[in-house]
Amino acid sequence: MKIGVLALQGDFAEHISMLKRIGVNTVEVRLPEHLNFLDGLIIPGGESTTIGKLAVAYGLMEPLKEFGRQHAMWGTCAGAIFLSKDVSREQPLLGLMDIKVQRNAFGRQVDSFETDLEIDELMKATGTEHPYHAVFIRAPLIESVHGDAKILSALEDGRIVAAQEGHLLATSFHPELTNDTRFHEYFVSLAS
Ligand code: GLN
Repeated sequence: MKIGVLALQGDFAEHISMLKRIGVNTVEVRLPEHLNFLDGLIIPGGESTTIGKLAVAYGLMEPLKEFGRQHAMWGTCAGAIFLSKDVSREQPLLGLMDIKVQRNAFGRQVDSFETDLEIDELMKATGTEHPYHAVFIRAPLIESVHGDAKILSALEDGRIVAAQEGHLLATSFHPELTNDTRFHEYFVSLAS
């Protein structure tokens, strides 16, 4: 099992250390050839416009789309934005997930927050019962899911913060910034 982390910008190092903690081999992906022989790819949080521009500059757009059609891919925060089809503005997107995302939906940096989420799928997959503590930093909201995409988790008021479409995963929050490895374990199970 080998999981890549897109290492153009953002908190890719935190994802890599989470994966190492659960005993998974990792690769930092900066060029198309780094995708060879990977079982899955994580796109980290950061700034989605910057990640998109760099992906265009390094010739990664088509290789990433091609990879995501056949392999597990997970976007956290900015990564979720980059995976989506629609963000109501012009910026490079992979458009792999049939979700509509609203950037910075919770306000500015000072409006970042943390909350506990009940995520049935995650608890079932990991055989645990305690809620998942989620960290939101200038987070996007998943406005709506379409086609085969389904809601994985929502806040109490119904706003969607995690979605899954087959082997593709999007979370508004940052599992790589906690001590809870369950989301990474869940992703690895999708990749295998
Ligand atoms: N606000 C960022 C964006 O729109 C995402 C923030 C994050 O990844 N923590 O790209």
